[in-house]
Amino acid sequence: MKVEIDENSGFCFGVVNAIEKAEEELTRGPLYCIGDIVHNSLEVERLRKLGLYTIDHEVFARLKNCRVLFRAHGEPPSSYRMAEQNHVEIIDASCPVVLNLQQKIRKAFLTEKEAQVVIYGKRGHAEVNGLVAQTNGEAVVVEDETDIENIDFSRPVILFSQTTKSLDGFRSMVERVKARARNSVTVNDTICRKVANRIPQLKEFAARHDVILFVSGEKSSNGRQLFAVCRDVNPRTYFVQGEDDIREEMIRDARSVGITGATSTPHWVMEAILHRLETDPF
Ligand code: SF4
Repeated sequence: MKVEIDENSGFCFGVVNAIEKAEEELTRGPLYCIGDIVHNSLEVERLRKLGLYTIDHEVFARLKNCRVLFRAHGEPPSSYRMAEQNHVEIIDASCPVVLNLQQKIRKAFLTEKEAQVVIYGKRGHAEVNGLVAQTNGEAVVVEDETDIENIDFSRPVILFSQTTKSLDGFRSMVERVKARARNSVTVNDTICRKVANRIPQLKEFAARHDVILFVSGEKSSNGRQLFAVCRDVNPRTYFVQGEDDIREEMIRDARSVGITGATSTPHWVMEAILHRLETDPF
């Protein structure tokens, strides 16, 4: 049986950067992180053992004189203000792509006063919260077509996207907004190509193998989306969190097994599965 790890799978550079920063800072002592540093419980647990503790914004508001890491999703301006007030040292691991998008949205909001900023994204997602906060909470978030009703079409629209949304979904939203618009619509395609390019690569990988083991944490929305893409191409696709989830019937009679995952899947978890399949399958 041939086993292959998808060379395009694993952490994006934003997450790699955040984890490397965390590991470097942890050599100086324990550290807090607002929200899980990555949507993968095995990686969160590995870093927790090194002293990285996940907290929420409520706990963050009560902390004083300590160090807090801002993860790749980015934080709203209020988190930076709060850290300053409470003498909290920020380890800023916000992804540069997200920071750039925050700045773009802020600039559009401050300079195009008559226009309405609209963000295509998941309401309540940490990155989206950070983006909306650039507009004092005034940006309209659209997740699907029903949300289009919330847009004030008497004003020009400036449309952005959360970095991890699909290109197809964004294009269809652009068409729907344009169909309703009575003023100009400025479209900013701000989808991260690390995510957008994953889908065609993944389809090709899924088609090449008899069985696909899709490795991801349960909390990752990117993981669920990419798993569905794989399963559409290859019905023998299984969602696993780690080597303990693999059962004999999954790989029965397979001549080739492909191991792949979400942008939040650590490489070491996929390598452990590869090792298990090559040395001691069942
Ligand atoms: S998916 Fe793209 S924007 Fe998001 S953290 Fe990764 S590199 Fe940055």
